[in-house]
Amino acid sequence: MAEKEGKKNLYKGAGGLRIGSVILWILAIAAEVFAIYLLLTTNEEVIFKLAGSNYNDTNALLYWFIGILVFDAICCIVAALLWKKANRIKPSKSKNKFVKLVWDQLGVIMCLVAFIPIGILLLRNNDKLSPKAKKILVAVVAILLVGSVSASIDYNPVEPGDAQNLETLIERHYSEEELTRDENGNIVVWWTKYGKSFHLDENGYHIADSATKTSGTLKEAIEAGRTDPCDYCVAEIKDLNKEDIEGIYEEDLEGAEESLDAEPVEDESLDDAA
Ligand SMILES: [Zn+2]
Repeated sequence: MAEKEGKKNLYKGAGGLRIGSVILWILAIAAEVFAIYLLLTTNEEVIFKLAGSNYNDTNALLYWFIGILVFDAICCIVAALLWKKANRIKPSKSKNKFVKLVWDQLGVIMCLVAFIPIGILLLRNNDKLSPKAKKILVAVVAILLVGSVSASIDYNPVEPGDAQNLETLIERHYSEEELTRDENGNIVVWWTKYGKSFHLDENGYHIADSATKTSGTLKEAIEAGRTDPCDYCVAEIKDLNKEDIEGIYEEDLEGAEESLDAEPVEDESLDDAA
C-alpha cells in the first residue's frame, strides 16, 4: 500500500493530463459527428436553423463546417500536447512495440479519426454544398489534418527511466532553486567513481568529500551506468522502478561498461569511502 502511494506521488499529474486528453478527444469526435450529421441529414429544418433567417445563404453552412473543423483541430492538438506531457511523466512500459507505438502516438491516431471520415464524406457527392464550398472544405480538412498531425506526433517518445522521463520527474518534484542546469538547460547531476547513484546535490554529505566526482547531464549519468536516483538528494523519485531504468539500458551498458574505468557497484556506502 505504502509503495503504491509512493508510486502515485511519483507520477503525480499524469492521470489528470490523460483525463484532459480524453475529454478533448471526446469533444473532437462529438463535433465531427455533428458535422457528419449536417452533411447527411435530410431534415432541412436543421440547416434552416443554422443558416438563420436566410435559407438560401449556403455560406452559412460552409462557415459552420469551417468552425467545427477548426474546433476539432484545436481539441486534437491540445489533447495530444497533454498526452505527450503525461507520457513524459509516466511512459508506457509495454515491451510490445505495436502497443508502445499506439500509446506514444495516440494523438496522431485521434487526429486521423477526427478528420478522415469527414474528409471522405466531403469528397463524395453531396448536394448540400456548392462545388466551390466543397473545394474550400476539402482544402480546409487537408490543411487542418496535416497541421494537427504534425503538432501531435511525439518526435521523441519516452522510455520509462530514460533521461527525458527522469528530467520530467525531477522537475515536478524539485524547484528550480534546487536544480543546477548546464548552458543547454539540461539538469546537471553528479556521480562518483564507485557509486551507482546519481546525485542532485554536489555538496550532499555522502558525496561532498569524494575526490572522484564527475558531473554531467542525466543522459550522461545513465550512459555511465549511474541509473539509481540517490536515496538522499533525489529521494523524491527514488520509488521509480529501478528495473525499468536498468532493463532498458542493459544493452547500451554492455558496450559502455568496457570503456568505464570502474564498474558501478551496488553498495552506496562506498561513496562515503571514495
Ligand atoms: Zn545524493
